[in-house]
Amino acid sequence: MSSIQKAFKVTLIPTHNQEVLINKTIGCARYVYNRFLALRQELYTTEQKTLNYNACSQKLTILKKEIEWLKEVDKFALQNSLKNLETAYKNFFADLKKSKSKKGVGFPKFKKKYGCKQSYKTNLTNGNIQVTENKCKLPKLGWVRFHKSQDITGKLVNVTITRTSSGKYVASILCETEIEKHPQVSQNIGIDLGIKSYLVTSNGEVVENPKYYRVQKRKLRKAHKKLSRSVKGSTNRVKAKIKLARACVRITNLRDDFLHKLSTRLIKENSIICIEDLRVANMVKNHKLALSISDASWSKFVTMLEYKALWHDRLVQKVGTFYPSSQTCNHCGFINPLVKDLKLREWSCPGCSGYNLRDNNAALNILGEGVRLIAAVGIPEALNACGELVSPGAIQAEIIEAGITRLQVV
Ligand SMILES: [Zn+2]
Repeated sequence: MSSIQKAFKVTLIPTHNQEVLINKTIGCARYVYNRFLALRQELYTTEQKTLNYNACSQKLTILKKEIEWLKEVDKFALQNSLKNLETAYKNFFADLKKSKSKKGVGFPKFKKKYGCKQSYKTNLTNGNIQVTENKCKLPKLGWVRFHKSQDITGKLVNVTITRTSSGKYVASILCETEIEKHPQVSQNIGIDLGIKSYLVTSNGEVVENPKYYRVQKRKLRKAHKKLSRSVKGSTNRVKAKIKLARACVRITNLRDDFLHKLSTRLIKENSIICIEDLRVANMVKNHKLALSISDASWSKFVTMLEYKALWHDRLVQKVGTFYPSSQTCNHCGFINPLVKDLKLREWSCPGCSGYNLRDNNAALNILGEGVRLIAAVGIPEALNACGELVSPGAIQAEIIEAGITRLQVV
């Protein structure tokens, strides 16, 4: 058994008064975020002073005496706003230090009333939050009913309430929960993420791309058209907006379901999973491939593999983007530049005349390179006398300590 943090998402069924209060709280949380962002910016430009979370928190207490309506809402929501702002600053500075690239997390931005994520987070203290079969008790809101979709188990940590673009209210209930680990297995695998198929493994398994987005594209295009043709400010426009948002949600749900099932199975069956470190953002710029890539949502898939690996003592090893996994022959190591052409699906090696299927060859190379990298980390107990890998659990622990893999919560 191991203890993990898991988020359970439920759709709330608030009463009218509760809905009003949720929206008010989201508004107040946004107000606090923006007001303190402005204050921090101003102090920095005028006096070169920085204002940390504690200083902001003290100022918030004073502000609440001046502004009556801030007292009407959940106080944790406002505090968490300040914490989010602090994190946004920290991420910005951390990113500034480590990369010289233009494309980073960027300076904290003001939150808008529309377009960005509308939510607030509340924390558990002294039983202010409770969850039963089909309702949950939240600060200031009281008992709110929800649609039950799954069993919520574990110790409550916090709850995030979000108003989705389709006009629904979703509570993400974070719990500390125990999970039963999968039994240890000895199989290792290399994965090549593809365009033609979703992925090909070093075992030769081909997982087809579901392409939900393409299937649903017509519906989506219709919804887009309806929205752009509607008159601004009309009821029809509101309806069209909701319809479009719902179509997007449906696609996301279908895709997430596919990704969850696939990642769970791969984690269960394998001990070490080697995968390409994708610069997806860069690849999406190539317009021809853009639709397929974002549709396949590889980065989400890799994230799922990473946190599930942590839950079950598996290891996800990323292989550098510049490693020529497609061009290298897995039999003899010959590098065949002709394979750069994406249309070349299979080839005979000029070096050893071995036959290679493009994606399967890449997956085998990724596995080989991944295992080599793990061995190079220099963990003595990971290698036996013959230099073969043993005990991925031990490597896993070492690698987590070294901060190479980080925990992600759904
Ligand atoms: Zn060869």
